[in-house]
Amino acid sequence: MITFRPRRSRSSSSTSATSPAGAPAARTEPRGPSHGPRPQGRPSPNREGAVPRSGGQHRSPPPPPRAPEPPPVRLGPPSPETLAAIEASPFTALGLVAPLVRAILDEGYTEPTPVQIEVIPHALAGRDVLAAAQTGTGKTAAFVLPLLQRLAETKASGRIRVLVLTPTRELAAQIAERISVYGRYRGLRHAVVYGGVSQHGQERVLATQPDVLVATPGRLLDLMAQGVVRLDAVTHFVLDEADRMLDMGFVHDVRRVTAALPTERQTLFFSATIPREIEQLARGMLRPDPARVSVTPQVTTAEGVEQHVVFVAKNDKRAMLETVLKDEAVRRVIVFTRTKHGANRLSEQLEKSGIESAAIHGNKSQGARERALEAFRAGTMRVLVATDLAARGIDVDGISHVINFDLPNVPESYVHRIGRTGRAGATGRAISFCDHEERDLLADIERLIRKRLPTFGGEPRPAEAPRSGPRPEQARSPHAPPRRPRAFGRAR
Ligand code: AMP
Repeated sequence: MITFRPRRSRSSSSTSATSPAGAPAARTEPRGPSHGPRPQGRPSPNREGAVPRSGGQHRSPPPPPRAPEPPPVRLGPPSPETLAAIEASPFTALGLVAPLVRAILDEGYTEPTPVQIEVIPHALAGRDVLAAAQTGTGKTAAFVLPLLQRLAETKASGRIRVLVLTPTRELAAQIAERISVYGRYRGLRHAVVYGGVSQHGQERVLATQPDVLVATPGRLLDLMAQGVVRLDAVTHFVLDEADRMLDMGFVHDVRRVTAALPTERQTLFFSATIPREIEQLARGMLRPDPARVSVTPQVTTAEGVEQHVVFVAKNDKRAMLETVLKDEAVRRVIVFTRTKHGANRLSEQLEKSGIESAAIHGNKSQGARERALEAFRAGTMRVLVATDLAARGIDVDGISHVINFDLPNVPESYVHRIGRTGRAGATGRAISFCDHEERDLLADIERLIRKRLPTFGGEPRPAEAPRSGPRPEQARSPHAPPRRPRAFGRAR
C-alpha cells in the first residue's frame, strides 16, 4: 500500500551529518535551468556565480581535525512492528539493508518506483548503470540508497568516496537533503558544494572529510583548482541529469571532473533521455557493458481525457469537491487522496454531507474492498475514494471523472490515475485540485506530460493572478463557500 507523503515534507526534520553554511532551502520554485548555455572555450571560473579566487591565494581557516563519526540518529530500536515491516518490505527484497529500509519506511514509501526496482540491484552488485529516467521518477533514491549501502560495506578512508555531480544548485541541495533522510540511521558524512554562495562554509564542511560529496561542476572545479577538494579516492560516481548538463553547456566541465576521477570506479549515469550525444558521453565514462535501464515515463496522457486544474485552498477542497459532485454529469468518479487516512476521512465527510461513497485502501479488508468495488461497478455507489495503490487493480469501465483531491507525489501516478477514465475510446474528465503547497507537484506533472493544464473554476493560476490590488479571495470572507467551478460535469 503506497502512502505517498508530500515531497520535502521530512526535510525540516531531517538530520544532516554535514550541511553547508548558506545552503538554500530545498527547491520551492519549478525546476528549470537557471543558466543559459555557456559559450565554450572561454575561461570559466565563475559559471555558478562563484567569486573568483586566484590560484595560490586561497586562505581558508586551518582545517579542523576530523570530527568524530556523527552518531546515527537514535530513535530507539525499531519496534517489533517496524522490524516486521522492514522484513516484509519490497525494498528489503531488492537487497537493501535494514537501516536504509527503516528510513524509507519512515518516509512512507512502501513500494519502490520502477527506476528503483531496475537500478538498485545492479548498483548493489557493483555494476555501472546507464539510466534514462526523469526527475520525479524516484531516481535520487535509486542511486543514493545503493551507494549508501556500498559505502557502509567498506571502511571510511577519510576521503571522498562518492561524488554526485548534478547541474543546478537546487538539485544539489535536494540530493543532499535526500542523503540526510535516507542515511539517517547510518551516520555517514556528506557535503554539498555549488556556486552562487560563499565558498567559506563549504570549505569548512569539506574539511570534516565527508564520505559523499554532492556538487555542481563549476564550483567543484574551482575547489579542485584550489586544492580544497581531491577526488582521487572516489570509488562511486553519479552523473545526474546528463542531458541538462549538455543543454547548459557544462559538458567540458563534466569531462574535466571525470578526468580527475580514478578509472577504477563504479559509475551511475542518469539522463532524462539518451540521444546520441549523451550515449557518446556515457561511453567515455562507463565501463563496457553497463546495465541499461529505461523508465522514461509515458509522456502522453490518455487521449480523450479532458484535463483541468483547479487552484483551491486546502481547506476549501472538500467544499469544492461537493460542488463538483452535485453535477449529474459526474456519473461515476474516483477521487484520489494521497493517504489512507485522508481517504477514510474524506469518505466519512462526504457521507455526512449525504454523498454516498466508499474508501478503498490497503487497510481495508478484502471483503470490504470487494463490496465497495461491486457497488461502484454496479452503479449503486458513484463515488469511490482511493489511494494510488488501491486503485491500481481497479478495472471498472464507464468512469466519467477522475478527481485528484490531492496531487500525487510521483508525477507518473498522475498519468495512471487519469487513465482510469476515458478508456476504450470513451471521453472522460480529470480534475486536479492544487493547493498552495502542491504547486511544485503540479509543475512536475506538467513537465512530465509536456503540457500546461488549463484552469477551470477555483482561483486563477497563481502566476496569472493580478499583481496589484486585493486578490479576489482576500476580499472574500474566509467562511464563504469556494467559487463554483464552471461546467465541471460536461464530458465532451
Ligand atoms: P526524484 O525523482 O528522485 O526527484 O523523486 C521524486 C519524488 O518521489 C520525491 O519527492 C521522493 O521523495 C519521492 N519518492 C521517491 N521514491 C519513492 C517511493 N518509492 N515511494 C514514494 N515516493 C517516492
